[in-house]
Amino acid sequence: MFSQFALHERLLKAVAELNFVEPTPVQTAAIPLALEGRDLRVTAQTGSGKTAAFVLPMLNRLMGPAKVRVDIRALILLPTRELAQQTLKEVERFSQFTFIKAGLITGGEDFKVQAAMLRKVPDILIGTPGRLLEQLNAGNLDLKQVELLVLDEADRMLDMGFAEDVERLAGECANRQQTMLFSATTGGSGLREMIAKVLKDPQHLQVNSVSELASGTKQQIITADHNVHKEQVLHWLLANETYQKAIIFTNTRAMADRIYGRLVALEYKTFVLHGEKDQKDRKLAIDRLKQGGVKILVATDVAARGLDVEGLDMVINFDMPRTGDDYVHRIGRTGRAGAEGLAISLITHGDWNLMSSIERYLKQKFERRTIKEVKGSYTGPKKVKASGKAVGVKKKKTDAKGDKKKTAAKGPTKRKTVNRPKAESLVSQDGMAPLKKRVTRPPVSE
Ligand code: AMP
Repeated sequence: MFSQFALHERLLKAVAELNFVEPTPVQTAAIPLALEGRDLRVTAQTGSGKTAAFVLPMLNRLMGPAKVRVDIRALILLPTRELAQQTLKEVERFSQFTFIKAGLITGGEDFKVQAAMLRKVPDILIGTPGRLLEQLNAGNLDLKQVELLVLDEADRMLDMGFAEDVERLAGECANRQQTMLFSATTGGSGLREMIAKVLKDPQHLQVNSVSELASGTKQQIITADHNVHKEQVLHWLLANETYQKAIIFTNTRAMADRIYGRLVALEYKTFVLHGEKDQKDRKLAIDRLKQGGVKILVATDVAARGLDVEGLDMVINFDMPRTGDDYVHRIGRTGRAGAEGLAISLITHGDWNLMSSIERYLKQKFERRTIKEVKGSYTGPKKVKASGKAVGVKKKKTDAKGDKKKTAAKGPTKRKTVNRPKAESLVSQDGMAPLKKRVTRPPVSE
């Protein structure tokens, strides 16, 4: 029961209005400590209810009578604009019976309109690091009186190259009394460094380890001979599986566009989301999916980051994600807040070793599934090593040029050697399409 927490009655009223009955594990663990004013470092997957775990204590701190606002009192940093928008909505839902106002600052929106909003001084500011820094540098933003700072999806902010920006913004909140950092994964040395810099004697709550990932989600693999065969399997799944809404992940924009084209030709109502789409397209795609006008979304990782769409119960990895953490993020789209979900990865010969490394990383074995109507000839390696990898898969010559197979052989946790979707990340943040970069990058590097 939410009434177990020492939350203001107006917040409990909003919680009841939203039909939240039982707190999720992350809420049970984090809310009391956050209310005490502790610095927290929380490892919890997307979909665990972590937003409410920091928003409710934040609002509780800010509760008070209506008055002229003079200072921004809380700052929430997030990696992508969609996630920032969703967090704003969550804040607005929980603060509906209070006088607390929140504002949003992300890339892709009008700079001057944002500056005007900042002049009215919201109590809570929610945003992505790049644009917040631009507003700061333009003299439009004063964070000196921020009492509470939240870094959400901190691991992803680091992946996207925001470490310095985040630290600079945290430094601007010099008088803060409390900092909370959330990440879906335990992260690496970059995250440890950031934690040491921004948190004071934090309590570490590890609510979901990756191996407990989305327990409501069934995880399967289906082997395929090649991409055209994958398309047949995909078509079969979309036509025969029971689902409310599905998301199909690819590793590259080109592949996302290709699948999208195929699905449109097959008369599926679908949208495609990747970093080259402008903000209007992205909003439209997400709104249609939420309203149910469209049931299928084709997306690259970054474009789909932070999507919280109710009823999204099937995730298909057309391309296997390049790291275990990316897998966790993708599968986090489904089985949210205890709902059932299905995650299916399509695996060719070239994907096998990557898939088996991800299984090892997650300490899970995916269910092997065959569909007789679209069965191919590849059913997995003839012989596997103890690690689950194929025996005798020689690297091909093309591998040296950064072909996906090279990545596949490296395993999911060695991020540095992998062609990371850097440009896709930054593009998604700014809503721009740097064409020059696109030509110089190898096709799989998105
Ligand atoms: P999050 O992990 O914060 O993105 O939350 C995932 C989804 O679960 C959101 O749609 C929340 O509104 C919903 N949610 C969070 N906490 C609860 C709860 N205690 N009961 C029901 N739904 C919840």
